[in-house]
Amino acid sequence: MAGEERLRALAAAVPASFGMWEGGGWSKASSGETLPLRDPWSGEHFTTVPAAGLVDVARIVGEAQAVFEGGSWSRLAPTARGRILLAWADLIERNADELAVLVSREMGKPVQQARDFEVVSAVRNLRWYGQLADKLMDDSPRGLQDAVALVTREPLGVVAAITPWNFPLNLAMLKLAPALMAGNSVVLKPALQTSASSLRLAELSSEAGLPDGVLQVVTGRGSTVGSALGRHHGVSCVTFTGSTEIGLQLLGYAAESNGKTVSLELGGKSPNVIFADAPDLERAIDTAAWAFTFNTGQMCTAGSRLFVERSVYDQVVEGLCARVSVLSIGDPLDPGTDLGPLSSRTQRDTVLEYIQSGLRDGATLRTGSEHALDEARSLVAPAVFTGTTTSMQIAREEIFGPVVCVQPFREESEALRLANDTVYGLGASVWTCDVSRIHRMARGINAGNVWVNSYEEGVPSTPFAGRKLSGNGADKGTYALDKYCQLKTTWIALEPGS
Ligand code: NAP
Repeated sequence: MAGEERLRALAAAVPASFGMWEGGGWSKASSGETLPLRDPWSGEHFTTVPAAGLVDVARIVGEAQAVFEGGSWSRLAPTARGRILLAWADLIERNADELAVLVSREMGKPVQQARDFEVVSAVRNLRWYGQLADKLMDDSPRGLQDAVALVTREPLGVVAAITPWNFPLNLAMLKLAPALMAGNSVVLKPALQTSASSLRLAELSSEAGLPDGVLQVVTGRGSTVGSALGRHHGVSCVTFTGSTEIGLQLLGYAAESNGKTVSLELGGKSPNVIFADAPDLERAIDTAAWAFTFNTGQMCTAGSRLFVERSVYDQVVEGLCARVSVLSIGDPLDPGTDLGPLSSRTQRDTVLEYIQSGLRDGATLRTGSEHALDEARSLVAPAVFTGTTTSMQIAREEIFGPVVCVQPFREESEALRLANDTVYGLGASVWTCDVSRIHRMARGINAGNVWVNSYEEGVPSTPFAGRKLSGNGADKGTYALDKYCQLKTTWIALEPGS
């Protein structure tokens, strides 16, 4: 990675305004309106993006439909599609510092993490799909006497991808790469706050050879642009990552319009369960500290409910407090920073309100504070609560900040009951050496991802899916392709031979 001086030069060089990425070039909203993006560290408005309206969304979706029908991408040979996706991955890698700096400025992620996690994951997943493009087969059932049946997978048409601000590059790519690989045209609506990095990502796709109009980025307010995409009859699928509240609204928009496919990756309140026989208790504590503080706790899979077997409870709480109190919290462009600011003032106030509610409900704050560390900069110290119960608001609701509730348990059955006592079902972690217990807990936990003696692990081929109010469908691997393709059975009756 470049030195700090170069990173700061890149930060200063961010353009003062962006257009939307439409038809392979920059465009404005028809109203001419723009919206400012605020850097959560400096507090300054560092750039602007167009505020698209309904007319713009209709125009851009229309272009996406026309490009799909034209076949420049949808009917391109899979090998050629794969080659372009791989070229795009190379360009993203080459521009990694610039992209990481953009993410840092948009939402306050430490630049080192923006590069090592965000950019690296986006490149890895894109390459995986680029390499897969020409290796998929269609099906034909064996043994039919008087017929041949072909089961083929076809692209849907226009896919609208709506993404959040917390991992802007990685989460966008988890949707763009499989949807494009399958031959669809994609309209991306990034979170307003992180529009700049998505726009640059799309610009690089054109440089890599993606035909004009296959990937477009429409910017603006979610309530206008996101809902218009959700209601548009020309959109065949909405693939969404974001809050449960908006995800449920998108199901409503689909029902009101054309019954489009709606794939949802939503919120979480993930349990992290440490048994006394964890293979390495110190590593379990290190990981528990990481699991609720990484990305300043703004992570759908944050390990925000920590359940610890009674006999090691005190050791874990002390270890956790010691670890998080030495984290370096501050300037995201400083490569030594562990935790940046929360992504906005609003987010900071929400998190502080949750901490205050924990105190009001009688929980004990072992480390952290109900006040911001620095009023001007949305810095919040990691908060470790003990004495929580599962009925408290801080133990039930997704906080999206560095706050953990630590609760003891005596028996495995109690740990399982506590882990499942949530409306969410995204991730869970279990720490133990007992092989039978590993399987009992993994089977018993009602979540799409269970990590054993680890946290938040995966490779591009493993699905990432939520259950309950954490969503439906899956991102990653061949599993994601199910939502971006439609099946067709072609039945060919064979005439008897002479
Ligand atoms: P959000 O408020 O739901 O926003 C997500 C996206 O939806 C943004 O692009 C937003 O645009 C747009 N949007 C807002 N209102 C809309 C509407 N009425 N119709 C359609 N789209 C609309 O979520 P967020 O605050 O960005 O992200 C945090 C949430 O995402 C958390 O709940 C987190 O758990 C979840 N998340 C889940 C996963 C997962 O894989 N399960 C991963 C990461 C995050 P604007 O920005 O313009 O409002």
